[in-house]
Amino acid sequence: MRTLVLHSGGIDSTTVAAMLVSQGDQVILLHIDYGQVTAATEFSAAKRTANALSLAEPLNIRIPEIGNWGKGSLVSDIEEEEFPHRNLLLISIGAIIAIKEGLETIALGIISSATAPFSDCRYPFIDSCTQTLHNLSPTLELMTPLSHLSKQDVVATAVSLQVPLSMTFSCNRNSNRHCWSCTGCQERASSFKALGVDL
Ligand SMILES: [Zn+2]
Repeated sequence: MRTLVLHSGGIDSTTVAAMLVSQGDQVILLHIDYGQVTAATEFSAAKRTANALSLAEPLNIRIPEIGNWGKGSLVSDIEEEEFPHRNLLLISIGAIIAIKEGLETIALGIISSATAPFSDCRYPFIDSCTQTLHNLSPTLELMTPLSHLSKQDVVATAVSLQVPLSMTFSCNRNSNRHCWSCTGCQERASSFKALGVDL
């Protein structure tokens, strides 16, 4: 299978990429700069992932101006963390590239979809996106292989796949280092600690 993995440089998308490579899939990483303050650091982490998994250099699509319109702590200094419709945007860009490149699947590292706080990470969104992709491109599949897992489950999966987690970046707030206070950093810290993984 040939798969486009939407890659944020974080634990979840890195684990998706490692899972697919371990299954023998051909994987292309796609990073998207939608104006998030962490974009450059994320892309560096995506490049490290590609190198560690012997993949081609990640694609990097840059539309930072959309960050002027989106809300959320990724693109502004407000406390609210959700960027409305973000995953719909990312999947749409992924679909355009997948069609162009002749890829069958788009993979997304969404987790905890039964209880996720953001509606674009939950099952109704995933199901409707799958249906929409089929309507527009019948051969294109949306894959969310971690959607039934918690963050701790994902870290355990990454450890079992020998993913070098130190190369991933989880912060939603700082551009170049983990702040250890945002949701991304707190989940990283608690799941690593529970599994005895070095921060
Ligand atoms: Zn942080």
